[in-house]
Amino acid sequence: MRVVSPRVFLLEKPEVQVHAAREWLDHIGAHEFEMNASATGGESLVQLAGKRCYMSFQPGLNPNIERVRTDMAEFIENILKVGHGSVIEHANYTFAIENVSRVFTGEMNRHRAGMAISEGSMRFIRFTNIPFWKPTSLCINDDDPEPIKERKRITWEVFKEVIGKVEQSYKLLEELWATELSPTSSFKEKKHLTSMFRRIVPMGVATGGVWTGNLRALRHIFTMRCAPSAEEEILLVASMMLDTMIEAEPLFFADFEKVNGYWQPKYRKV
Ligand SMILES: Cc1cc2nc3c(=O)[nH]c(=O)nc-3n(C[C@H](O)[C@H](O)[C@H](O)COP(=O)(O)OP(=O)(O)OC[C@H]3O[C@@H](n4cnc5c(N)ncnc54)[C@H](O)[C@@H]3O)c2cc1C
Repeated sequence: MRVVSPRVFLLEKPEVQVHAAREWLDHIGAHEFEMNASATGGESLVQLAGKRCYMSFQPGLNPNIERVRTDMAEFIENILKVGHGSVIEHANYTFAIENVSRVFTGEMNRHRAGMAISEGSMRFIRFTNIPFWKPTSLCINDDDPEPIKERKRITWEVFKEVIGKVEQSYKLLEELWATELSPTSSFKEKKHLTSMFRRIVPMGVATGGVWTGNLRALRHIFTMRCAPSAEEEILLVASMMLDTMIEAEPLFFADFEKVNGYWQPKYRKV
């Protein structure tokens, strides 16, 4: 068994093609509108999409509009406030997430709207030693009463024993099917056996993958999964993702604040 800790990597975020945007803006008559050079790609993309709805790039472009919002922070806050969430769906962010269990992925993958998912295949990937995240709730805190400390220690010993047994049994199965698993046998055969063996691997096994989500979906996930009612692993990982997004896109997450150690948004339904 190999003890691992969850990791989150932001692989990709939006980047507006400035020349194409200029061509488009001129095409629709928004000649006076200048994109903000210091804005993030996500902010610019959402601003372009949002302003196209009302043609609010500049006063007079739409005769119904005399004044337009120029401040990016105000513009984005207004979208969140009025719940015009479809506009923020244009901005997508790709995360690689590693060292998370199937407890995490089973919950994360329930979020379907606005998400793309590629998860490590236990049908293809054979284990040599089982990677495993030790739940935070099993870590001993200085202020834990002694009986709790002892129970945590024993629980962790039980975990290690069970996983050690699974590893032994897994190895035994590999030996039993050594001919079919030899380098010269077909990949189809190996895949078939690997998939059969995975049934004895516990759902605490660490895996990883790539998750892409748009801003609306990510805000929803953080609202649900950074809350006190969330399971401890998704709470930890979603909070790490939110920390990353607050750094990458501060304006879209400016309404999130920490209350008693948990992130909460001001605008829940965007
Ligand atoms: C604390 C907690 C406990 C949970 N316990 C359980 C449990 O015991 N058993 C269980 O099965 N699941 C459980 N879940 C999972 C939960 O039911 C959802 O499947 C999961 O949170 C995904 O969220 P979502 O439904 O909002 O989907 P998302 O895909 O994130 O969708 C986002 C939003 O889009 C809209 N939407 C998405 N799909 C549709 C659709 N098909 N039709 C109409 N509108 C749609 C909804 O407004 C939805 O809220 C739990 C979740 C939490 C946070």
